[in-house]
Amino acid sequence: MVDLNRRGLMLAASGALAASALGTPALAAPAERKIGYAIVGLGGYGLGIIAPQFKNCQHSRLLALVSGDPAKAKRVAGEYGILERNIYNYQSYDSIKDNPDIDVVYVCLPVAMHAEYTIRAAKAGKHVLCEKPMAVSSRECEAMIAACKSAGKKLMIGYRCHFEPNNLEAIRRARAGEIGKLRYFRSEHGFVAGNPSAWRLKKAMSGGGSLMDIGIYALNAARYMTGEEPVAVYATERTDRSDPRFREVEDMIEFELEFPSGVLGSCMSMYSANRNQILLMGDKGRIELEPATSYRGIKLWVGNGRGGDGAAEITPPPGPGATMWAGQLDHMAQCVLQNREPIVAGEEGLKDIRIIEAVYQSARERRRIALRA
Ligand code: NDP
Repeated sequence: MVDLNRRGLMLAASGALAASALGTPALAAPAERKIGYAIVGLGGYGLGIIAPQFKNCQHSRLLALVSGDPAKAKRVAGEYGILERNIYNYQSYDSIKDNPDIDVVYVCLPVAMHAEYTIRAAKAGKHVLCEKPMAVSSRECEAMIAACKSAGKKLMIGYRCHFEPNNLEAIRRARAGEIGKLRYFRSEHGFVAGNPSAWRLKKAMSGGGSLMDIGIYALNAARYMTGEEPVAVYATERTDRSDPRFREVEDMIEFELEFPSGVLGSCMSMYSANRNQILLMGDKGRIELEPATSYRGIKLWVGNGRGGDGAAEITPPPGPGATMWAGQLDHMAQCVLQNREPIVAGEEGLKDIRIIEAVYQSARERRRIALRA
């Protein structure tokens, strides 16, 4: 998961620094241009979380905005020093093709809009970073991958935890055999959903309920922590349909994942309780993260599980960026600059959506669903 090429670049950079400190002029490397991003959708995530992260980036800059709210876009442009000509709306969006300074479009829209705005970006000759969940169906995911492939453009999904130091350290320790043979994975993810009229609670806009939105963190973690792909799922859903929030989408859904090595995965997703946890149990110990995937305060423990507790809190080495978001944005930028595939490409998003579809089917039909290899 760790971006070795970037690490190589950083080592190279520190070598150049050392050379100049010794009085030897470092070879002047050509200044790498910063990749220009356009954020599409200035909402809680695009505006509240992503826009402020560019100041932490080395290879990425915020260059353009796409919004349906001209007053907001103008205000945000002023705040971030974005030229007025680089403000677009959903109608003028396709004309980004005439703006060579936009390299990457970051799609931060409701899920049902991901496919359309990814495909339009690819047709406009732009690389795409698209938020999770990738789309409302695997069919849409496939169309997004095909559009980016045929345009020769990169497609990355906003799985920020692949750039988060505690998650990376947990993966490293699990792979290094520190907790022995992995037997069990558990993750619970949830938050309390609010306004019943929000797009998240409308199936046509969200594609589904808590599983699409927050349970996907448990599912994605089950795959990156074990390093395996599940072969079958079994799911149970519990939703109070008289609650105005849950007329269209599910609240609680619990699913088991069977992995080829025999590891059992147990995931819980909910819209009616706050929870954010990951646990890996091996025959020599355990790794726990809590909170595991939140915006801040992520904590990691490793213990042998014997004699009660004894788990020690671990401070992980620094991640690939100043923050997980900067790591994510700069990873995409470097993939563009160096023509590499993102570590969380469109295919990664598609895998999760295919499993999510099987989880929903299992809950509906109350049976184990085998997954296609
Ligand atoms: P918000 O509702 O806060 O923002 C969505 C934005 O999309 C709106 O502000 C609006 O921007 C634009 N938009 C365009 N059409 C519509 C429409 N019909 N209804 C609502 N909004 C519309 O959502 P979030 O920012 O929370 O979520 C956006 C995406 O980011 C989702 O895919 C979500 O899953 C993902 N996300 C990812 C997180 C992560 O940690 N990786 C965390 C939170 C969300 P404008 O006014 O500029 O047109």
